[in-house]
Amino acid sequence: MNNQEALLSALDEVALVSITDAQGIIIFVNDKFVETSHFSRQELIGHNHRILKSGDQPDILFEDLWKTISGGRVWRGDIANRTKDGSLYWADTSVVPIQGPDGKPEQYVAVRFLITDKKESREQIVEQHREFERTKSALVNALENVEQEKERIRLQSIETKKFALAVEGASEHIVITDPNGIIIYANHAAELITGFSKDEIIGTKAGTLWGGLMGKEFYQRLWETIAVRKETFQGEIRNKRKSGAEYTVSTNISPVMDEKQHIMFFVVLERDITREKEVDKAKTEFVSLASHQLRTPLSAINWYAEMLLEGDAGTLTEQQKSYLQEIYHGNQRMVELVNALLDVSRIEMGTFSVRPELTDIVALAQSEIAELQPQIDAKKLTCVADFQQGLPQLNVDPELIRIIIENILTNAVKYTPNRGTITLALHLDDERRNLVLTVSDTGYGIPQDEQAKIFTKLFRANNVREMEPEGTGLGLYIVQSILDHTGGSIRFESEENKGTTFYITCPVSGMKEKDGTVKLGHVAH
Ligand code: ADP
Repeated sequence: MNNQEALLSALDEVALVSITDAQGIIIFVNDKFVETSHFSRQELIGHNHRILKSGDQPDILFEDLWKTISGGRVWRGDIANRTKDGSLYWADTSVVPIQGPDGKPEQYVAVRFLITDKKESREQIVEQHREFERTKSALVNALENVEQEKERIRLQSIETKKFALAVEGASEHIVITDPNGIIIYANHAAELITGFSKDEIIGTKAGTLWGGLMGKEFYQRLWETIAVRKETFQGEIRNKRKSGAEYTVSTNISPVMDEKQHIMFFVVLERDITREKEVDKAKTEFVSLASHQLRTPLSAINWYAEMLLEGDAGTLTEQQKSYLQEIYHGNQRMVELVNALLDVSRIEMGTFSVRPELTDIVALAQSEIAELQPQIDAKKLTCVADFQQGLPQLNVDPELIRIIIENILTNAVKYTPNRGTITLALHLDDERRNLVLTVSDTGYGIPQDEQAKIFTKLFRANNVREMEPEGTGLGLYIVQSILDHTGGSIRFESEENKGTTFYITCPVSGMKEKDGTVKLGHVAH
């Protein structure tokens, strides 16, 4: 055994040794190499090291290796190789170039010490470090979230404070009660409006200090709306301040529910509208007074115009007659408008009386058709009357029923073009609880987008305003108000250029008597 052989055999115990020629072709491998790589010696000799598939590492490593050794220098580094069956092993590798006679590397001797275990534990450390980094960044994120959450809570508490200040400073009376109606919060305006201090208010049942003026039925209805049906109650309520002075509020009481629809509390909003009511009342009284005062001169004009037209002051020329007729007609319209305004003010002041008596509504309807016959004939309309046999007489105010039929029927005639058809029907509903008056026409109809406003005072739809300039826009308002006050109802269906049907109901039980200072009964048309 020469020195070289002795060296190689000593290395056999600890290292993998290979020798390549100048081109990198393997010309020698020791036993440890063969044993570790699982390749046979024959498979290795004559091949490049690439047979070991160390391609898991970057090319730059091999470029550096090759550059170093071909330049005659020793290269050292960790290389991963694969055995024949594909498993990876790491080796601390030194490649030593052996110079030939021309001074250029003639052979390369590679000595590898296996370091797979060390490498694995290094990778474990790297993985642990990565895990640590991940945990650290998760912690940093969590901390950031905590900061954001703190900021959100801070902003929320500012919001809540703002809300509390807004509620406390609102000009409306705001009270919050528990589900039994016991007051748990009252704002400053509640103190100002009711005259009671918060100490006096909190802990009492809502309304006991300042309520009680509206009658038992009203409060029952209110409680049923908010606590049983769990809906918002809206309405006007008369209350009494601590001083004893009465005031009127516009109220809105809403139940606030949890996700199981259990009432958590009620929020009561009340706006003092006493002053507005007074102004409204003064306006209505003014309209009433003005209309009343206008009636006397208008009657005089009417009267004298009639006398002139009848030739009481001598024969008139045709031209004089036609001018006078214009005056007479214009005056008639003014009388009708003034009468309608009077009715509206009486409805609004609540001063009209209801005097029920047994009434034959069929006869009433027939007489209304007869009244309108000249207009029906002038427009060549077909008028169909369809009355159920044996309708009972009802205990109603005949004048109010007359106003209703006259208004609805006049509208049907007015808003139906020549040769159209109007139908008036009277029958009992299926349960025989209500008498139903149906008036339908084949007229202009009411535009869809204006239907919601049709019962509003002075409202006239666009499609008829030019065609039929004569109208006050008060008829339907008066009809609806009468029905509201007497237990009836009104609704309609309408399609533009097809026609309209109004349905009016009146309870068979009749109307309740009501005292008032005046009777309604001068209808505008
Ligand atoms: P007026 O007829 O004096 O204008 P009303 O209060 O009686 O006032 O009616 C309000 C509006 O409702 C009318 O101007 C008209 O636009 C609409 N209207 C009422 N009845 C009918 C109908 N039968 N056909 C079409 N439009 C109608």
